[in-house]
Amino acid sequence: MIVARGMEGQKVAVFGLARSGLAAIRALVAGGAEVLAWDDRDGARTEAARAGARVQPPEALDWSALASLVLSPGVPLTHPAPHPIVSAARAAGVEVIGDIELFARALGPKAERSARVIGITGTNGKSTTTALTGHLLNRLGCPARVGGNIGEAALGLEPAPAGGAYVLELSSYQLDLTQSLAPDAAALLNISPDHLDRHGDMAGYVAAKSRLFRGQGPSDVAVVGVDDPRAEGICAALGRLREGPRVVPVSIGRSVGSGIAVLGGILYDRTGPTVQTIADLNACPTLRGAHNWQNAAVAYGLCRPFLPDGARFEEAFLSFPGLAHRMEQVARIGATVYVNDSKATNADAAEKALLAFDRILWIAGGVPKEGGIEPLRPLFPRIAKAYLIGEAAPAFAKTLGEAVPHERCGTLAAAVRSAARDAAGAGAPVVLFSPACASFDQYPNFEVRGEHFRTLVGELLAAADPQKGTAACTP
Ligand code: ADP
Repeated sequence: MIVARGMEGQKVAVFGLARSGLAAIRALVAGGAEVLAWDDRDGARTEAARAGARVQPPEALDWSALASLVLSPGVPLTHPAPHPIVSAARAAGVEVIGDIELFARALGPKAERSARVIGITGTNGKSTTTALTGHLLNRLGCPARVGGNIGEAALGLEPAPAGGAYVLELSSYQLDLTQSLAPDAAALLNISPDHLDRHGDMAGYVAAKSRLFRGQGPSDVAVVGVDDPRAEGICAALGRLREGPRVVPVSIGRSVGSGIAVLGGILYDRTGPTVQTIADLNACPTLRGAHNWQNAAVAYGLCRPFLPDGARFEEAFLSFPGLAHRMEQVARIGATVYVNDSKATNADAAEKALLAFDRILWIAGGVPKEGGIEPLRPLFPRIAKAYLIGEAAPAFAKTLGEAVPHERCGTLAAAVRSAARDAAGAGAPVVLFSPACASFDQYPNFEVRGEHFRTLVGELLAAADPQKGTAACTP
């Protein structure tokens, strides 16, 4: 755990007690602060009391005695309307901050930090890039602690040793509550419309993402994907700053001057005087698809300044285990590979998965998003057959129409059975579960749905003839 410094003897309110709120309480209590905590959920309040906070509803707070309000990123700060506790804090002149701000203050001013801070944001690919950045650093000799919006909350991380690094995934909500992080290296992967209800409009969302680069100076690095116009705009604006960070643009498919590019799966570094070939990403099963190449290129750009020349990046990419439920290869049975992409809860994400393979037995369905799978029409020729589940099945069947053979299976279990039956004859090497839907009609969340897929494939694996060649690809 990281101890929240500078709050000794002060009264701090923590509102919203999920992972990051509870970690904030522990860090504050360890730093000698008096913590008043609240959450509408009973269980969370019990946890908070156990962590050393005094549980007290917001109405009972004496604002004149409080130094800060630490707000959960899940609580509206500005839109659709500020939560009443935010309005109360503002009226009393009490600062409203988040756990990442506490983390930044705990590490102290940049000159005093013994470990680097790396921050990663973007609309898509944050978790993969964060995990990959941590993996590359750890593999190549820089001890890294990985957390934030993924896994452990930032304040719950073990302190990094001197010369090590903190690698933090940061959501736009967290960035809205952060003022003084000043990362040594920061990355923006991409920006497309998302969470507009919470940021008011696109400009608000872009502004929240841009906050990551605040406080960076010429000794810092800003790695920015330039394949969408909004992120490209931020990249250009950073480049115009007088005392701003060194800007490293990243493109997939385009060779960018003084930047990093992936062309045909080969990662090139053009930030130095000569172009260097860093790695062939085609050989990495856990980094399939152009979207993962973007994640890989950004992770490389973030790590490069902290690793020695000659670091063996290709080997480190190859050993990346990948993240569960994101294009996760769970087994190979005979010639067929089974891929769990349960995290693909919309057509945009499923598109990335379909683009990564040529002939696919596709399992899809659940609670459909607006627009359904219509945007995926250009990819229909890649789908040998579709197996439809959940509420979306009738609508998806209609969209697929005559263009793609399909079967309404109802449940995931039935879909996996049918796809496995067809796999041998279909000449399709991939059974891809990339639902393009939310999970809530049949599962509590995408993780449980993905685990079920893994279990079902595990049963197939157990029943398969080992002579034909089988492999459980992940535990
Ligand atoms: P996040 O943490 O931002 O939600 P993840 O790394 O968990 O992102 O990936 C979630 C899904 O987003 C993946 O299953 C994939 O479909 C899609 N995705 C991942 N990386 C990218 C990227 N760089 N660009 C666009 N889509 C991506």
